Amino acid sequence: MQLNPQLADLPVYHPGRPLEEVARELDLPLGELIKLASNENPLGPSPKAIKAMQETASKIHLYPDGNAFYIRNRLANKLEVETDNLIFGNGSNEIIEFVAHALLGPDTNIVVSQYCFAIYPIVAHLAGAGCIIVPAKDHGHNLPAMLEAITPDTRIVFVANPNNPTGTLASKNEVMNLIENLPDQVLLVMDEAYFEFLDDPVNMLPLINTKPNLLLMRTFSKIYGLAGLRVGYGIGHPDFIAALEKVRQPFNLNAMAQAAALAALDDDEHLQQTRKINKAGLKFFESAFESLGINYVRSHANFILAKVGNGQQTFLDLQKKGIITRPMVGYQLPEWIRISIGTTEQNDRCLNALTELR
Ligand code: PMP
Repeated sequence: MQLNPQLADLPVYHPGRPLEEVARELDLPLGELIKLASNENPLGPSPKAIKAMQETASKIHLYPDGNAFYIRNRLANKLEVETDNLIFGNGSNEIIEFVAHALLGPDTNIVVSQYCFAIYPIVAHLAGAGCIIVPAKDHGHNLPAMLEAITPDTRIVFVANPNNPTGTLASKNEVMNLIENLPDQVLLVMDEAYFEFLDDPVNMLPLINTKPNLLLMRTFSKIYGLAGLRVGYGIGHPDFIAALEKVRQPFNLNAMAQAAALAALDDDEHLQQTRKINKAGLKFFESAFESLGINYVRSHANFILAKVGNGQQTFLDLQKKGIITRPMVGYQLPEWIRISIGTTEQNDRCLNALTELR
């Protein structure tokens, strides 16, 4: 077979390791393992979402609503946008793919930051597009430098705010300066996967109808605790959303996902509780790292990057103790691991294990 030549050196994304896989490999009881590797919600899904999924189970012989009517309307209402400002994806990862299909090909490029979310360069490479990587500033995005890096072939600038895996946040001024000065032919994807964890987020929603080259991306995988269902969405100008809709497969958002996401939007208590334990967990790790003399990056999301020395070895050692974290070798941060914030008990266990290893 003549494989797409782009596959030859396509980087492979290594996700956080599933609990069951590690339990099998290390012959550890599943119940003794904790996963702090994929920035999931340690409280689990909202009980309302669970109920909605159960109610959907008996109707699962039917195809889902390809237009996702109820979740679309509910979300439009909540965000105060129109329904045609929204597109849904099988996780926001799929929205990244839509964007790549719509804009990238040979002789085009994307601009990203060093330590950016790994999927952006992967989709660009698959499309045969180039990737301009701008050096990070204090582990975060250097937005003025990213603006400078744009060439006539640039089609997309990807900015995750807060960024994964660093947890860094770009300031409102820098974000606004970027969108104001961006050439019209360049799309800015503002990836807001961790938006709901912020106390004072930059609200870019008012710009979407006047800036056709702005797409916001959010997800139900993080604060809403529905990572296993795969629900993400893009918010953008109706003309660009219509172009993306051409790329979308008709039933990409499954029926259970639509029902659960709709119910999750009604559970503000679950959301507030998640924010609260996340804030406390971040503080816990920060002050522990400070007293232990472990370097860390101040995080605005639900995970924290810690400089542990040999990141890969620490990841393996923690795994033996039943704690799955994320090694950062693939992100060119070999001395670091990323720890997702867990429950109080999980955070304690992780820190104790880290301390024992020192
Ligand atoms: N963007 C960022 C910055 C992320 O960290 C993630 C999840 N790791 C995603 C997008 C994708 O999330 P999902 O596909 O689960 O919505």
